[in-house]
Amino acid sequence: MADLDVTNRLAAPWLGKFREEVQAFLRAELPEDIRLAVSAERMDLSREQQQRWQKILARKGWACSGWPRQFGGPGWTIEQQYIFERETALADAPRPIVMGVQMLGPTLIAFGNQAQKDRFLPGIVNGDQFWCQGFSEPNAGSDLAALQCRAVRDGESYVINGTKMWTTEAHIADWMFGLFRTDGSGRKQEGITFLLIDMRSPGITISPIVTIDGGHEVNQVFFDNLRVSVENRVGDENHGWNIAKHLLSLERFGIAEVSRSIRSLLRLKRIATEPRSDGGRLLDSPWFARQIAELEIDLMSLELAEIRLLFSDEDGSEAAAASILKVRGTEVQQAILELMMIALGESAQIDPEYSDAEGDTWIATAYLNFRKTSIYGGSSEVQKNIVSKAVLGL
Ligand SMILES: Cc1cc2nc3c(=O)[nH]c(=O)nc-3n(C[C@H](O)[C@H](O)[C@H](O)COP(=O)(O)OP(=O)(O)OC[C@H]3O[C@@H](n4cnc5c(N)ncnc54)[C@H](O)[C@@H]3O)c2cc1C
Repeated sequence: MADLDVTNRLAAPWLGKFREEVQAFLRAELPEDIRLAVSAERMDLSREQQQRWQKILARKGWACSGWPRQFGGPGWTIEQQYIFERETALADAPRPIVMGVQMLGPTLIAFGNQAQKDRFLPGIVNGDQFWCQGFSEPNAGSDLAALQCRAVRDGESYVINGTKMWTTEAHIADWMFGLFRTDGSGRKQEGITFLLIDMRSPGITISPIVTIDGGHEVNQVFFDNLRVSVENRVGDENHGWNIAKHLLSLERFGIAEVSRSIRSLLRLKRIATEPRSDGGRLLDSPWFARQIAELEIDLMSLELAEIRLLFSDEDGSEAAAASILKVRGTEVQQAILELMMIALGESAQIDPEYSDAEGDTWIATAYLNFRKTSIYGGSSEVQKNIVSKAVLGL
């Protein structure tokens, strides 16, 4: 019954009008170079492109769709946020700037002090401030609480020494939110502090890591006697772990990306129905048609699970739900790209339909790049452990 209520609510006439307003805005305002880059599954939107789109959204008041009005969000209902996310994905508009808009912003709203909210939230809303996430280390990924990068209190500062690993976009970020070891004497979860770091401070070295797709998205970051003011601590010293857990469940929701998968599946179906050189269509192959049908069923059930969760009033199993969506969402994303590789054959290497001015768009690149989604934000194996503990009590 609850699901039916949701469907009714989503079908309400005023929401239809809202959907049309979003569609009209996207038709009028989404720059063509950005739309092309997103439609080609390019992972390397430049800082300038991300920032330009964020500013267009901010001018409309739509920059941070899930935020309350008092912090610069539109104050939308869940239904409006859901429709906005779907329409932006279908129109090939960029994803929100995830680190600031979806992760740090809501975390500061929940745990930051007033001075931190005043200082940092406006820059996230209008795209002036880019953030990166300094959680993982060479020996602390799945077992994140094992992190060793030390912050030692010295007067009104912390002095940081150590390293962070796999830091996405550290090379274009202005700030990092990170977890640092301030006490090593008790349980490992207990001596962790959440700090905000100006990436232009002396004592930071950023070393690029080139991934399997040939792109530069991630980095290793080294700290050498970096000084950070105590003002940049979120929450109390040694109490960063709860903040991190809150932030990670926000990250896992984002990674499911049901709407983006719906858009990619539509594209896959279009490719499969196009006539091939032998006059036939890929969709005429019973094997391929079955793969697409199975994927579509998986995606529909994922969407229903997401809707049930978003619109349910129950809480308590939120972390497990985020993990379920992350595992299934990333499996679907990878399966779609795999079928797209099969569908395009050798032309997966260069996809002329979506070539941009540089003629440089590659589905194969996206296929390789998306291997990461079942690893980052917590690997699938680790998510399954979380689910089995929360749901099965194992
Ligand atoms: C492209 C990319 C971008 C990233 N961006 C960021 C970022 O911006 N900021 C950040 O902080 N981190 C980032 N990460 C790091 C990411 O969160 C970690 O890679 C992830 O948590 C896994 O940790 P690990 O790489 O240390 O692997 P490990 O923890 O060493 O795991 C290795 C393997 O063992 C498995 N495994 C580990 N423990 C268990 C267990 N208990 N049960 C079963 N299997 C287990 C894992 O599933 C995995 O297959 C990024 C990673 C990638 C690949």
